[in-house]
Amino acid sequence: MAVPKKKTSKSRRNMRRSHHALKSEAIVECANCGEMMRPHHVCGACGHYRKRDVVQASPAS
Ligand SMILES: [Zn+2]
Repeated sequence: MAVPKKKTSKSRRNMRRSHHALKSEAIVECANCGEMMRPHHVCGACGHYRKRDVVQASPAS
């Protein structure tokens, strides 16, 4: 089994982890109701996707 020759320093370890931060989730406005929604997903408020009614809107809203 391959084994590291030297202990990874705190600096090296932190440099590696500099890319691990989470990015903010993409949000767009629904073309039908104007509610904020995730792109490429069915709108949670009105049930539209690509300007068509694809699912029944939830009764709670
Ligand atoms: Zn909508």
